[in-house]
Amino acid sequence: MGAPLPFASTLDVAHYIHGKRVASSSARRQAVFHPASGQVAREVVLADVADVNAAVASARAAFPAWADTPPIRRARVINNFLALLNQHKDELAAIINAEHGKLFSDAQGEVMRGIDIVEFACGVPQLLKGDYTDQVSTAIDNWTLRQPLGVVAGITPFNFPCMVPCWMFPVAIACGNTFILKPSERDPSAGLFMAELLTRAGLPYGVFNVLQGDKLAVDTLLGHPDVKALSFVGSTPIAQYIYETGAHHGKRVQALGGAKNHMVVMPDADIEQSVDALIGAAYGSAGERCMAISVAVLVGDVADKIVPLLAERAKALKIGDGMRPEVEMGPIVTGQARDRIEGYIGVGVEEGAQLVVDGRGYKVAGCEAGFFTGGTLFDHVTPQMRIYKEEIFGPVLACVRVPDFGAALDLVNAHEFGNGVACFTSDGNVAREFARRVQVGMVGINVPIPVPMAWHGFGGWKKSLFGDMHAYGEEGVRFYTKQKSVMQRWPASIAKGAEFAMPTAK
Ligand code: NAD
Repeated sequence: MGAPLPFASTLDVAHYIHGKRVASSSARRQAVFHPASGQVAREVVLADVADVNAAVASARAAFPAWADTPPIRRARVINNFLALLNQHKDELAAIINAEHGKLFSDAQGEVMRGIDIVEFACGVPQLLKGDYTDQVSTAIDNWTLRQPLGVVAGITPFNFPCMVPCWMFPVAIACGNTFILKPSERDPSAGLFMAELLTRAGLPYGVFNVLQGDKLAVDTLLGHPDVKALSFVGSTPIAQYIYETGAHHGKRVQALGGAKNHMVVMPDADIEQSVDALIGAAYGSAGERCMAISVAVLVGDVADKIVPLLAERAKALKIGDGMRPEVEMGPIVTGQARDRIEGYIGVGVEEGAQLVVDGRGYKVAGCEAGFFTGGTLFDHVTPQMRIYKEEIFGPVLACVRVPDFGAALDLVNAHEFGNGVACFTSDGNVAREFARRVQVGMVGINVPIPVPMAWHGFGGWKKSLFGDMHAYGEEGVRFYTKQKSVMQRWPASIAKGAEFAMPTAK
């Protein structure tokens, strides 16, 4: 046995309900790994129905007072949380690295992108301002306001254990809701850390709760009459299930799903920049990003120039423990996920794609039991292949060769996913046409990973998002509030006599 594991603990990772960590009545547990060493670092509790009910009861009890708290005072609590988050951001990044495996610098970037949304949520009084019309009819005024929904829940994936919850809870609680976070069971500690910071920031008990668990916890939340809305981020089959089941139970649902993001490289693109962008976007975070580029669409003669350069760089990736500053790609989150990714590489070979760089079986000296795989590069991938159609969610880049711009656009638009896309070109007209015609929710022109900033909102199209509204930004505020219209007049101005026809402006 080597050095002690970071954040190793004999304690189970448990729930956070009503302002404190609580023991669970559930006997179910799941191992949480330290991916770089492959060791079990701790166990996470998997909630039973009683745990879910306790979290919902706490959030429900906290709702009336929190909803009644003036938005400016809610914003001040969020602002206190922002200060604490900035103070402790490196601790949080280290927790993320320990359970997810991504580079420490990448985890710092993730925390920063979460902080962006917390900053956005501090402006909640401006965001909740309603509309007012004086004199819609003689002596009658009409205004609209937005009110919180009640208890809302967020179910989040393993790949951004801080940033994705931050897409949801800062906006939800700033709007006056109370929140239950159900983090991924693979990296459950970041949510607990943030819960403790929120309590220290002065958030009343029960406004933010963390429920550890799996399908049982999610299904209980989906069917619970006191949960008014669910935000989900994860894989497409589960997103669709959450959307359909939540809607069946009369809840408001936004469910963000999987992706297969393409990057089109036009013949006039800067080759060096395109290679840098593809390497970073395909292999960064070991390809475990919903905005990772997994398909390079190489137009015209660009493939012959780019593929050899990509191969050289993919082979030379520095792979290892993400806490080491020289490392460029860390491990995969679990051994099971690594085996699934390597299984897909075998499928690609069977399907007849050209395996240019094979990352399978990669070993890191000193971390032999870690969940590593190397960077993999395929060329001559076709749209019929499973490695083109399905989300692999690992460091595997598929190159597809197309003759021209029209074929590139058709290819992207025919794919069932529509999360992110990029086009590298030096022609403004091509860029404009691409941005207008592509059937994808988030578009980068010479930007490989166009994750929108906090005030723009995040969301894909097609099977990458079920529901109407994107995460965070103004769409997030709309999702977490319901509009009310109020019409008023005062007794002195009311004319005598009942009216039986539809009222119109007088
Ligand atoms: P996942 O779908 O396996 O899990 C997501 C959440 O759903 C977890 O909290 C998990 O506990 C829960 N869950 C899993 N199976 C369930 C079931 N059968 N019933 C109910 N709940 C269930 O996803 P993951 O592997 O944690 O994350 C990777 C996926 O998330 C990828 O597909 C990736 O593209 C996607 N993702 C999408 C976005 C986006 O914005 N569109 C962002 C990040 C990740």
